[in-house]
Formats: sequence, structure tokens, C-alpha cells
Amino acid sequence: MEDSKTHNLPRKSKNNYSYRAKKREVADRIVGPSCCFCGYDVRLIVHRKDGTPHERFDTLSISRFTQELQTGQYARVCFKCHKAVHWAMKYLGMTWEEMTSRTNPR
Ligand SMILES: [Zn+2]
Repeated sequence: MEDSKTHNLPRKSKNNYSYRAKKREVADRIVGPSCCFCGYDVRLIVHRKDGTPHERFDTLSISRFTQELQTGQYARVCFKCHKAVHWAMKYLGMTWEEMTSRTNPR
């Protein structure tokens, strides 16, 4: 397994592509394979529900990334809804709970 050697994975390593694909698989499994608001399933983003900053996912190892998502603090949203979520947080002062209670996400 390559995991034992990937603690300091360089930004542009040769296996960057498969590494990213693997993270996508992990995210699909833990936070769902489509946007929790609109169901869109491309250009997905893992969003931290409370909107606070978090470590960049692209520099985390697969195992750290998995652990992080398993905290339950993240949700899958598409790029469109992600923009909307941050807009609503910033300009309407809405919380994740307020947004999701109105939109009936999965
Ligand atoms: Zn969406």
C-alpha cells in the first residue's frame, strides 16, 4: 500500500491523479456522491458545515482525510450550492442548520 509512504506527499507527485481519485471515493462513501441540496453530482466540494476554516484537503493523507470526514462536520455540496451556502452565511447570517432545515437535504 502506498499509504505508509505518503505522509509528506509532494504537491505535484506522479500519483497525484489517483490520490485525488481515492479521496473522491472516500468522500463519496462518507459524505455522499452528490450535492445534499440539489443532487448535482459533478464539481462537488466537501463543505465544513459551520463554515470555519479547516486544513486543506489536498495536503492531507488519505487516512487523515477519512478521519476528518468521519467527524460528521462535513457535507457534500456542488460548486453552485457551495457558493450559495457561503453567500447565505455571509449576507443573511444563516447557519447550516437553518439552511438544511428549510431545504430537506438527505
Ligand atoms: Zn447543489
